[in-house]
Amino acid sequence: MPRLVMKFGGTSVATVERIRNVARHVKREVEAGYDVAVVVSAMSGKTNELVGWVKEASALYDSKEYDTVVASGEQVTSGLLAVALQEMGLKARSWQGWQIPIMTSDAHGSARIAAIDGTGILQGFSKDREIAVVSGFQGVHQPTGRITTLGRGGSDTSAVALAAAIQAERCDIYTDVDGVYTTDPRIVSKARRLDKVSYEEMLEMASLGAKVLQVRSVELAMMHRVPTYVRSSFDDPADPKLGTLICDEEDIMEQQVVTGIAYSRDEAQITLRNVADKPGIAASIFVPLAEANVNVDMIIQVVSDDTTTTDITFTVPAADYERACSVLNQHKDDIQFRDLQGATDVVKVSAIGVGMRSHAGVAAKAFKALADKGINIRAITTSEIKFSVLIDSAYTELAVRTLHSLYGLDQA
Ligand code: ADP
Ligand code: ASP
Ligand code: MG
Repeated sequence: MPRLVMKFGGTSVATVERIRNVARHVKREVEAGYDVAVVVSAMSGKTNELVGWVKEASALYDSKEYDTVVASGEQVTSGLLAVALQEMGLKARSWQGWQIPIMTSDAHGSARIAAIDGTGILQGFSKDREIAVVSGFQGVHQPTGRITTLGRGGSDTSAVALAAAIQAERCDIYTDVDGVYTTDPRIVSKARRLDKVSYEEMLEMASLGAKVLQVRSVELAMMHRVPTYVRSSFDDPADPKLGTLICDEEDIMEQQVVTGIAYSRDEAQITLRNVADKPGIAASIFVPLAEANVNVDMIIQVVSDDTTTTDITFTVPAADYERACSVLNQHKDDIQFRDLQGATDVVKVSAIGVGMRSHAGVAAKAFKALADKGINIRAITTSEIKFSVLIDSAYTELAVRTLHSLYGLDQA
């Protein structure tokens, strides 16, 4: 029997009625002849609630206990879906991460999957076509026996990793939109659904803020060449559409220069004013930040107003902003900056497309279009298949829509 992994996100399992609807989708695939492993998220809003409780219990919580608490949302939905499938006359059982086991690192809160032992699930398939209902987002660090979680949105990664481990024919990620769009359809109504998108572009889109798939899931799909579809659980279970296929670049016939626009609010800007303009200064700033595990993204250096010193601007993840400022202040004597200015009301807007490799001037067009709308660019980065601009967050939607139209992505 061919094998299939189906993943259902939070809104798809938000109520018992929605879980029953998921069971109908699963039943269809079982009847079509697949052995099925289903990966489920927690009911929508549940993980946020659990995270809130941990933070309420202690500001400096133990990350192992955080994982114990937040992994529980998926335990509930896996059990409920197994019950709903049994109710329909199908054989099914739930699996928690530690039962399979899905073995991970011990980086609690953002653990990485090291290996998955698919033996038990495959035995269930071959014995009596038992459907495996797997709790997404969670695993176990075997040396300590502790429950781990894979970071927010991690059920996508559980699903793709499981598909690779049991050599599934494909992995279907069911969500509340019917595929990957040229940009977030919640903010641009003219966004278009893509039939196919390459692994490379999807990886950039996810990294640059498109939360439709967790970054790591795309990395795994690309590495193990798992054909992955993003599709809707809101389709009629009797007549579903395929959604968007994430696949090799070579399998896409018509390539646009720009495939998608993404935005991320998880950025903060730091500017060090009047830094001495001499060798070693960049190292004195960025080495301590690296040692504190702060990822620096965009960097620009300009001559200060006094023309003898320089201003250095860079971005860090918003979650690391306070920590980055305190590290820099601790090293103020080595760096010798006069002022530290920060901004958290910034957003990074990016355009992604493999076509940029062969077309010049793609980013330049955007700078002009944004300027025409009166949007000030605070920082820029470019690489082979994307460019990003940092702007005031108040202009997020205007900037995303402007670039979306500029590159011909609007729906007719
Ligand atoms: P789930 O709970 O099923 O994992 P998510 O909320 O994590 O669902 O992801 C789906 C959401 O991703 C959509 O509702 C949509 O608003 C958002 N999204 C952002 N960018 C895109 C994009 N380019 N294409 C489709 N959806 C996107
Ligand atoms: N429930 C987890 C979260 O909300 C994992 C997931 O849904 O993918 O982040
Ligand atoms: Mg998600």
